[in-house]
Amino acid sequence: MTHHIPEGLPDRIRHYIDGAFVDSIGGETFDVLDPVSNETYVQAAAGQRADIDLAVAAARRAFTDGPWPKLLPRQRSRVLHRIADLVEASDARLAEFETFDTGLPITQALGQAQRAAENFRFFADLIVAQSDDTYKVPGRQVNYVNRKPIGVAGLITPWNTPFMLESWKLAPALATGNTVVLKPAEFTPLSASLWAAIFEEAGVPQGVFNLVNGLGEEAGDALVKHPDVPLISFTGESRTGQVIFANAAPFLKGLSMELGGKSPAVVFADADLESALDATVFGVFSLNGERCTAGSRILVERAIYDDFVEQYAERARNIVVGDPHDPATEVGALVHPEHYDKVMSYVEIGKGEGRLVAGGGRPEGLDRGNYVAPTVFADVAPDARIFQEEIFGPVVAITPFDSDEEALALANDTKYGLAAYIWTNDLKRAHNFSQAVEAGMVWLNSNNVRDLRTPFGGVKASGLGHEGGYRSIDFYTDQQAVHITLNESHAPRFGRG
Ligand code: NAD
Repeated sequence: MTHHIPEGLPDRIRHYIDGAFVDSIGGETFDVLDPVSNETYVQAAAGQRADIDLAVAAARRAFTDGPWPKLLPRQRSRVLHRIADLVEASDARLAEFETFDTGLPITQALGQAQRAAENFRFFADLIVAQSDDTYKVPGRQVNYVNRKPIGVAGLITPWNTPFMLESWKLAPALATGNTVVLKPAEFTPLSASLWAAIFEEAGVPQGVFNLVNGLGEEAGDALVKHPDVPLISFTGESRTGQVIFANAAPFLKGLSMELGGKSPAVVFADADLESALDATVFGVFSLNGERCTAGSRILVERAIYDDFVEQYAERARNIVVGDPHDPATEVGALVHPEHYDKVMSYVEIGKGEGRLVAGGGRPEGLDRGNYVAPTVFADVAPDARIFQEEIFGPVVAITPFDSDEEALALANDTKYGLAAYIWTNDLKRAHNFSQAVEAGMVWLNSNNVRDLRTPFGGVKASGLGHEGGYRSIDFYTDQQAVHITLNESHAPRFGRG
């Protein structure tokens, strides 16, 4: 297979602090691999505490002394729209870099680049439309909300769709007037290195955007423990979220946690089977299965179970796995050999826990790179590890059910609660089931398509707090209540004897 290497790759990936690209103070670096050759293609600066200190100090100066937090919403909005324009204009290049670094299929990486632009456009519009509450107590008081940016926001992001997920935090944090330090995932730092030029060209003032590369336990940890960073927005594994939660506790930081998932897709016998198949196949195999909201447990009503499993397996076997840069590819290469080993270990575990009906190893003809054949296990019991644990790859568990009650119990029987997908044409069941399922987001007879105004987030081990639309604005701002007396003060008169 050809190995596409984009032109213009950087010779080194550096931090971006106070408007300049810099190496780590101590010169530390780490290797970055591409997932098709698994060879190191670049060294990235590995940020340490001292580098985080510099970045936070720059962001703090830009917050206290710079123009950004004080600009009119319209002025910041214009800058954000320019960012969106620039991202859109370079979507093909962004997608090419993203695909090279992550192994995501190029058509899907392109969609993610466009979504990143849309995130900036959306928050650019939202801050000019934003209004805050005023409360009147007739003749006595007026109270109003004075919304304020908080300060330096620490943004810590994962390696799946990295550029888009960075935009999901950068756009609202900047729109609301904060300054930021971004710590992108160490497996995939390439596309993040493009933000600096985009922000400079769009007119983001110096020091407002800072980026420190590095390992989670070093750069990420230092950011979480920095006393001048009052906010941490984190997306990643539930286990990492627990560590960050504990480390942030002594500082009483504002935390937004978007964590892991093991989301159910529930298919009732009365569903439109063809649509359910389309969506449940796409739901777990798109983005290489490296998707937090993947419907990786499919629960199917017994009456259609055998037929569903047969058709599902047939679809999975026909999925085009291959070169991520080929537009015909549907599943590319997993991000990193460590992650590949993890996913493959679950494939082996699954062979002892379910009936393998598709995949089960490397696809034929692809003997290097992190390729996993779309893998389907049927008849998986709810206590199986492949039913309970997040695999984060192209692997799905299918389980039958006999009643609505059993379907609901199975759907809720994991520690996670991010998304749920329900397929039925029965109106009452659809709503009752949706409302009872333990998931932050439900898609009813629908694939994972999200309006940017809706809340995004999980329950249980899938997250704490919701972002999306005004909820992101709330997370990145303080809402100060200002109370004004309209006539005499009503204080009881103490101390007059
Ligand atoms: P991860 O938790 O390993 O890493 C995420 C980020 O945290 C990385 O930047 C990493 O360097 C950093 N990090 C690691 N340890 C840290 C520490 N001790 N202190 C501070 N930072 C630290 O996750 P990942 O493997 O990169 O991403 C995959 C996970 O992300 C999956 O569980 C997936 O479900 C989840 N995810 C969730 C959502 C969501 O919105 N709920 C979206 C995408 C991905």
